Amino acid sequence: SDALVLEGLEKGYNRGKPSEVLVLRGASLQVAAGEVVALVAPSGAGKSTLLHIAGLLDTPDSGRVLHGGREMTGLGDKARTEARRAEVGFIYQFHHLLPEFSALENVVIPQLANGVPKAEAEARGMDLLGRVGVAARSGHRPAALSGGEQQRVAFCRALANAPKLLLADEPTGNLDPGTSEQVFAALMELVRATGMAALIATHNLELAARMDRVVRLDQGRVVGG
Ligand code: ADP
Ligand code: ADP
Repeated sequence: SDALVLEGLEKGYNRGKPSEVLVLRGASLQVAAGEVVALVAPSGAGKSTLLHIAGLLDTPDSGRVLHGGREMTGLGDKARTEARRAEVGFIYQFHHLLPEFSALENVVIPQLANGVPKAEAEARGMDLLGRVGVAARSGHRPAALSGGEQQRVAFCRALANAPKLLLADEPTGNLDPGTSEQVFAALMELVRATGMAALIATHNLELAARMDRVVRLDQGRVVGG
């Protein structure tokens, strides 16, 4: 079954008040296992809202969310948080790495929190860092790395616990075009190697065109693809 199904999502803020804004108005989307889908939309269209609902950080007002065929919509807070930690990896425009820890430690820590033994976590961490070309920087703290290197480490951290679903919000948005291109290629290799499903929001139409499918968020609905 599909890694991610969003069905008829509706979501508004300040509902019932004069400042009410209806962001999602029946948004539906399916992402198959192993598929990489680009989500293109102007700022303010509701990309972050949709990604947060898909990733179980937020709940819709109505509509359904399924991960691997499993209904997520009715889960309580605790079960939803557990499902998110086990199944979803997030990548943002800014890396949010832990500044006091090395690149490798940043990839190891989420694995330890997930019960993986240290030696195994370190081996997996080095493997991931190697795949995106930053193994030689594994002992450095984030501040000693370039922006592109920091973002590569953030990708490795997001994939550390082998989530089935990767959600990315402008993953190359703060990088210059050349770096953005290289970092994007590294991300695609990681995603392909792990076979996960990915939904990647981007303003960059050239990068979007290199994914398996492009959808747009328009008037609160998902169109295209
Ligand atoms: P995008 O990620 O596409 O820029 P968002 O999902 O962040 O869009 O926001 C969509 C709309 O919802 C915007 O008009 C934004 O101002 C509004 N919005 C987002 N979060 C909130 C919130 N917590 N309270 C009120 N309005 C919000
Ligand atoms: P941990 O397992 O370390 O406690 P969390 O379960 O809090 O981490 O978060 C898991 C993922 O969800 C992380 O990638 C984190 O960046 C993201 N996340 C958690 N809370 C939020 C939030 N309020 N907004 C955006 N992303 C969040």
